[in-house]
Amino acid sequence: MPTTPAFAAQSASTPLAPFSITRRDPGPRDVQIEITHCGVCHTDIHFVKNEWGFTVYPCVPGHEIVGRVTKVGNQVQGFKAGDRVGVGCLVDSCRTCPDCKDNLENYCVNMTMTYNSPDKFNSGPHTFGGYSSSITVDKDFVLRVSETLDPAGAAPLLCAGITTYSPLRYFEVRKGSRVGVVGLGGLGHMAVKLASAMGAEVTMFTTSPGKAEDARRLGAHHVVISKDSDAVTKAANTLDLLINTVAAPHDLNPFINTLRRDGTMCLVGAPDKPHPPIEVFPLIFRRRAVSGSLIGGLRETQEMLDFCADHAITADVEVIPIQKINEAYARMLKSDVKYRFVIDMASLKG
Ligand code: NAP
Ligand code: ZN
Ligand code: ZN
Repeated sequence: MPTTPAFAAQSASTPLAPFSITRRDPGPRDVQIEITHCGVCHTDIHFVKNEWGFTVYPCVPGHEIVGRVTKVGNQVQGFKAGDRVGVGCLVDSCRTCPDCKDNLENYCVNMTMTYNSPDKFNSGPHTFGGYSSSITVDKDFVLRVSETLDPAGAAPLLCAGITTYSPLRYFEVRKGSRVGVVGLGGLGHMAVKLASAMGAEVTMFTTSPGKAEDARRLGAHHVVISKDSDAVTKAANTLDLLINTVAAPHDLNPFINTLRRDGTMCLVGAPDKPHPPIEVFPLIFRRRAVSGSLIGGLRETQEMLDFCADHAITADVEVIPIQKINEAYARMLKSDVKYRFVIDMASLKG
């Protein structure tokens, strides 16, 4: 089995450092990919620091993968050497449960995550992610990425893009919908771009006054500094859908009040500790809902990539060599990211 250079964390308290992994030889259904770019998701930080309590080490994160096909198995049609492809958060699922049959592999209880899942192919102790030079993936979990998109800017679509696209579609956002977004980081800035491309009137809630101008450039029609409670109160009863991307526990109640009757706040941010309690009356008196959403299925991820190609949408990225990854994590924890770090994987060889 080929060895591949990678970066891994060996424990919750050690920084990411060079590490060597093995990838399986491609089987008949496999696509072997040379990774050119990998986005840095806040989930990678939650895992590396074991904030959700189920990390297995060594941990090689990375699930916003873009690269070129180097080899395909003899049962693979639709991909050939040289094609630009992507891999997101999933590399396998059971394929037989009701969720898989509904093309919602992301909700399959037996899905295989791109990293930190048991490795069914036994090429390692568990799956290793995209902070590495190559990956071998079953053809059904490989996505086509348009040559018209910048590959670094396209990488974050594989998680930040689909995680925000999926609830926008599920809640039927269209021209004239009023959509709010909480938190202007990787997910938040994709939510703004996608919602505004769908024709929505977008309100951005940010704790960072320095990001207000950017929010407008990204497509927000209104910007509310969420630390200013009067400004949040003024936005009461205005929104059909609110996508909350914040990675830390915070008071949800002021945001619930920004929803109109029948509006929904969809939580995609996944803090390690619970949010403070939600008040019930503001939900009951306006038939409002609080929901959650997890990435998206493979079919919807391809639909999102095609939508982005049609609308020339990519992430705003700061490209880094992998040697700067620990610095990038420290900056993300200070909300100092505009708006996604993406690793140039050529740096791993250099
Ligand atoms: P990110 O790039 O670090 O952005 C998070 C943003 O949240 C920050 O830029 C900041 O925006 C805001 N924020 C951070 N701390 C805050 C605090 N204490 N109070 C208020 N606002 C705060 O993170 P990301 O990659 O977008 O990921 C966000 C969350 O989504 C993470 O928890 C991640 O694990 C989760 N996630 C979930 C899914 C899913 O399928 N549901 C998929 C991917 C990621 P402002 O400066 O604008 O306030
Ligand atoms: Zn992610
Ligand atoms: Zn399944």
